[in-house]
Amino acid sequence: MSIGKKDLEFPNLEDFFLEKVRNGVIVKYVDIIFGKYFLYILTPQNILYPCVIYNHIMQQNEYVKHSKPLIHFCKCNRLWSVYDKNATFLKAKIPYNNSFDFQVGGGRNNSNKLFYNVELPFCNECIKIYERLFLKFHVNEHFELWNNIFLTKNVIELEKKAIEYAINLDSNFLSMDVDINDGYFYLRRKA
Ligand SMILES: [Zn+2]
Repeated sequence: MSIGKKDLEFPNLEDFFLEKVRNGVIVKYVDIIFGKYFLYILTPQNILYPCVIYNHIMQQNEYVKHSKPLIHFCKCNRLWSVYDKNATFLKAKIPYNNSFDFQVGGGRNNSNKLFYNVELPFCNECIKIYERLFLKFHVNEHFELWNNIFLTKNVIELEKKAIEYAINLDSNFLSMDVDINDGYFYLRRKA
């Protein structure tokens, strides 16, 4: 019996990717773009989705001090001080609720603790930056914070410029134009 062509088709890569990122993926394995206001993850179809980044591996001493990792959603100093595009201890996630996985430890000498579907706090520095730009910190029931960006034409334009700048500066990317459509930013190869 032969297998139909349909059975061999790879599932839609974009959907596959998005499903993975909704659960959180290690920063090293994805492309993260820093905008002026928010952080984005680049999908196979060249769409930029706003994402959050958090430390999914906590050291024992950090755990004792803070008990939970913080969720970052913009380029605050605290994130900037640990961010590295080859980082395996950071995860990026397109959040649809406040539910995160993380682990404590990872050294050979102590046992790991694993946490699943835990609510995590937002980083205070990120909130301060957000409040300075948008006056009030607001997250809706789908855990979205970036709706504010699309309320003002001027803010969209500034974000588009910041994204273009970040992409054209990064040697991993071809220079691209950034378009805006239905609440997302799209990359398009320069004509
Ligand atoms: Zn932060």
